[in-house]
Amino acid sequence: MSSIPAIPHSAPRASNSALWRGVIDRYARYLPVSDATPIVTLHEGNTPLIRADNFVEACGGQFELWLKYEGVNPTCSFKDRGMTVAVSKARERGASIVICASTGNTSASAAAYAARAKMKCVVVLPHGKIALGKLAQALMYGATTIAVEGNFDDALRIVRELGNTGQVEVVNSVNPVRIEGQKTAAFEICDQLGRAPDFHFLPVGNAGNITAYWKGYKEYYSVQKADRLPRMFGFQAAGAAPIVDGRLIEKPETVASAIRIGNPASWQAATAALKESKGHIDKVTDEEILAAHKLIAQTEGIFAEPASAAPLAGILRCTKARMIPAGSVVTAIMTGHGLKDPETAIKTAGFEPTIVAPKKETVMKVIGL
Ligand SMILES: *Cc1c(COP(=O)(O)O)cnc(C)c1O
Repeated sequence: MSSIPAIPHSAPRASNSALWRGVIDRYARYLPVSDATPIVTLHEGNTPLIRADNFVEACGGQFELWLKYEGVNPTCSFKDRGMTVAVSKARERGASIVICASTGNTSASAAAYAARAKMKCVVVLPHGKIALGKLAQALMYGATTIAVEGNFDDALRIVRELGNTGQVEVVNSVNPVRIEGQKTAAFEICDQLGRAPDFHFLPVGNAGNITAYWKGYKEYYSVQKADRLPRMFGFQAAGAAPIVDGRLIEKPETVASAIRIGNPASWQAATAALKESKGHIDKVTDEEILAAHKLIAQTEGIFAEPASAAPLAGILRCTKARMIPAGSVVTAIMTGHGLKDPETAIKTAGFEPTIVAPKKETVMKVIGL
């Protein structure tokens, strides 16, 4: 719309500079954007793909594991990939208010991108269920923050109803352009590895991301940018496993708050991805999630949030069950940064700083010197 001023700091489409300008700039030809789309970006994407041999050794596996560290996106989760497209499209349509329901990361991302686009953002959260870092982000970016006395599924129901009024733009992954943006992570993996993986492990909550990765891999395969299609291996938390259990979960419970969802919006698309890719979906307990959360930090120096540890717990299980053949190339998505949820991390670490008198001797004693 011509009434919308151009965003001065938005990325130009083409450039020879080495500056990374975000996923729309990099993958525009695969995305629903045109020259008329005002790009709202925080230069998301281009995240590291880190080989994790120590973790594989600790599992007793004989495969190559590569971790896509999505926690180093601008708001510290993969949600930024979809949000740059959703907020850019909302702006193109002339919307002035974006709204989302969230377990925390979608709200952090929506709030940041809306601030950059000079749009109003409303986030609807389950009261008392949001990890501390994520809540701090929504408040700090200036979103109108509403806590409903219910769970995520209640929040999403309300947001969908508000979307139907036509007065607000819903930026949850029920908005298909979110999935479009998120599929760019599959492109990056293929570009970084020089091939597609044999197995792709990830956590499953609302099931948008498994849908997005499968779409991305299929598109890259169809234009011969990838030589194969991976098998998609998804993991839910035992107390919030509607797809695994085959029924809605009224009161989903898990320490992994980002996947505490009882009625996934992309349920059908996820089921299709699992079937088409000859994939696998299973549930892991909170104990397994927290053990993997700690193991990846202490073996690889990678601090991810609890939900990101669900696929790692899945890898531990699948290794024991001999489901990953020797020599396989495996990717797993570290979906969000560990600093999002410092309270769980401090509990999981299981120890606190040792308090000593301010003397060299007392410190040496603790070290054992
Ligand atoms: C959103 C999110 C998930 C779950 O992704 P879905 O697309 O809802 O399945 C997992 N981990 C983190 C850190 C997230 O923010």
